[in-house]
Amino acid sequence: MTIGICGAGTMGAGIAISCIQAGLDVVLYDLHDEVCTKAQAYIKAQMDKAVERGKTTRETADEALTKVRITSELGDIQPCDVVIEAIVENKEIKQELFAKVEALVAPNAIIATNTSSIAVTSIAATLQRPEQFIGMHFFNPAHIMKLVEVIRGVKTSDETVERIIALSKVLGKSPAVAKDVPGFIVNRVARNFYNEAMRMCTEGVASVEQIDTIMKGIGFKMGPFELMDLIGVDTNLQVTKSVWEQYFYEPRFAPALMQEQYVQAKLWGRKTGEGFYKYDNKK
Ligand code: NAD
Repeated sequence: MTIGICGAGTMGAGIAISCIQAGLDVVLYDLHDEVCTKAQAYIKAQMDKAVERGKTTRETADEALTKVRITSELGDIQPCDVVIEAIVENKEIKQELFAKVEALVAPNAIIATNTSSIAVTSIAATLQRPEQFIGMHFFNPAHIMKLVEVIRGVKTSDETVERIIALSKVLGKSPAVAKDVPGFIVNRVARNFYNEAMRMCTEGVASVEQIDTIMKGIGFKMGPFELMDLIGVDTNLQVTKSVWEQYFYEPRFAPALMQEQYVQAKLWGRKTGEGFYKYDNKK
């Protein structure tokens, strides 16, 4: 099976690692050559890390690395059986890409979106084959986190759901079928984890570091600010805006002004070297 991945950023690169580790062939596509170069280095570094930690052998890692082809030519995804999209969180831009992908791939290919928040049925509205379209929502880092939310749109077929559940298991993931509501399960719950933390900071109730330390103290693996830096402060804001808009601007989902400012200042977290914290190595 060959998996096409559109978008070689934070999520696309991680999904690619997950696929090659499972022995699948991958075509990883991005618009920008520099993103492709960065993704190649990231994938290699993560495989090296897996060898250092004894999670895999050098031989297996080298074999896996031969399975990924990184390209800035969309036409290269033509032979893929499943295409997973991980581009910017914007419905119109995703739909524009899907129209091109549908025209390229075989009629029985599945197209999956890794959207964090946009209702799958609403994205599928402009597709020719909505029955073969589905949400496959990975979590960051995609090659490490086990959960995958599988979201069926109104017109998604049973066969598509079954094939994506089976693929998730091949990747060693735990698929959870979620209803097609904005934000699905995790990102709807998580909105207030981030938003309330930022509002508290703005009010001077507690600092970024205090909030992260305290939340970890009660058992969260990462505090909200560390997690936003990992996700990408820009991507996280897009997700918050998307959930807020789709719930008809319910005030409880409203984005925090603090986040807008961080995005404007290009303090996007690990990927730009600085967000709520500073990082030595980018990404
Ligand atoms: P990112 O900004 O790191 O990467 C997006 C990539 O898509 C960029 O490299 C960009 O060049 C590329 N791109 C943009 N438009 C494109 C197009 N038309 N064709 C091809 N490539 C294009 O973003 P990300 O964090 O990887 O998020 C990608 C998707 O995954 C979003 O929908 C996001 O909501 C979702 N998601 C993100 C996370 C996370 O923690 N970051 C987790 C789960 C899901």
